[in-house]
Amino acid sequence: MTYPFLEMPDKDGYFGEYGGQIVPPELKAIMDQISDAYETVRQTKDFQNELAELYKYYVGRPSPLYFARRLTARQGGARIFLKREDLNHTGAHKINHCLGQALLAKYMGKTKVLAETGAGQHGVALATACALVGLPCEIHMGEIDIKKEHPNVTKMKILGCNVIPVSRGTKTLKDAVDSAFDEYMKDPVNFLYAIGSVVGPHPFPKMVRDFQSVVGKEARAQFLAQEGRLPDIVTACVGGGSNAIGMFTEFLQDEKVKLIGVEPAGKGLDTPDHAATMTLGTKGTIHGFKCYTLQDANGVPLPVHSIASGLDYPGVGPQHCYLKDIGRVQYESITDDECLDAFITLSRTEGIIPALESSHAVAYAMKIAKGLPKETAILVNLSGRGDKDADFVSEKLGL
Ligand SMILES: *Cc1c(COP(=O)(O)O)cnc(C)c1O
Repeated sequence: MTYPFLEMPDKDGYFGEYGGQIVPPELKAIMDQISDAYETVRQTKDFQNELAELYKYYVGRPSPLYFARRLTARQGGARIFLKREDLNHTGAHKINHCLGQALLAKYMGKTKVLAETGAGQHGVALATACALVGLPCEIHMGEIDIKKEHPNVTKMKILGCNVIPVSRGTKTLKDAVDSAFDEYMKDPVNFLYAIGSVVGPHPFPKMVRDFQSVVGKEARAQFLAQEGRLPDIVTACVGGGSNAIGMFTEFLQDEKVKLIGVEPAGKGLDTPDHAATMTLGTKGTIHGFKCYTLQDANGVPLPVHSIASGLDYPGVGPQHCYLKDIGRVQYESITDDECLDAFITLSRTEGIIPALESSHAVAYAMKIAKGLPKETAILVNLSGRGDKDADFVSEKLGL
């Protein structure tokens, strides 16, 4: 049996009714150019080989599939397995799509790669990829975020990246996006705007998914080799949705495998302080594509909150919206408190400090494992490590 989502997106970048290129005509022409270049380059042996070698010898792929024996015993139910994206070079899954985009920029002869960053994770991963590929990198970052996220700013500078402080508006992520975008539009033919998740106009949701799909490909094969079967449940946290779609793609045809995306419920779904876009969002447009969004009556994005800064985005990847509507992926949410509990529990039972983002998926697995038989296997995408969150958590918990 074939499923419609295997051919998605369509040539206009739609996953069902979501996605597309909702941008001015001059930008649409540029996006089409990137799409054409990507479709050509991705099929060349040179590009495929170069990316495969970087994944192996630079990122350290394949990342291990690890059975969390002590966490499983503590929860007393289903067995919990972790896909260790936290062990990648730079400590998270983001390097997978940053390398892909930096390499594409090189093949397209671009002279500069630029992007915005909020907490700095996308900025550091992109600065790393650009240093490796040998392309100038420019990252726009709000002045308030620069103060808050100093270690990441330092790393970007060490990596040779030009960090542009943004002093307009609220001096945070939203203004950094505007600032980076203004710079991009000065010369979109020679610059590449590298997007940090499966969001933005076509072809980015597709490209970023393709670059991340290595995660699920590895995990499925590893699970079969190690356990002689497939997992029953596969779960991952969802901000924009790149680590989740990267994990889910290879499992989409395995009807018996339940796929669950975990969103941030923040301080609670009954408060304004969450970022549960799939659970509580409505259809709308954000950053050049259609998806579920958290928006006001005029379609303006609402302020969102999560203890994990990588998850607080008021939109979500278009493919996730489609997969929710057809019922192939289920979306659940985890609060800040449940996330913190999982962060500490995984650290103390397994000696693995997870990113606060990834802790949402861990928390969800912990929550459901208890009530399930021990024959059940849950695979969690551990999207990143928590070194970056250590000071924040220890202060928060008074450690
Ligand atoms: C950025 C980030 C995320 C959120 O991004 P997605 O595109 O939803 O995957 C999740 N985990 C980690 C560790 C991150 O750095």
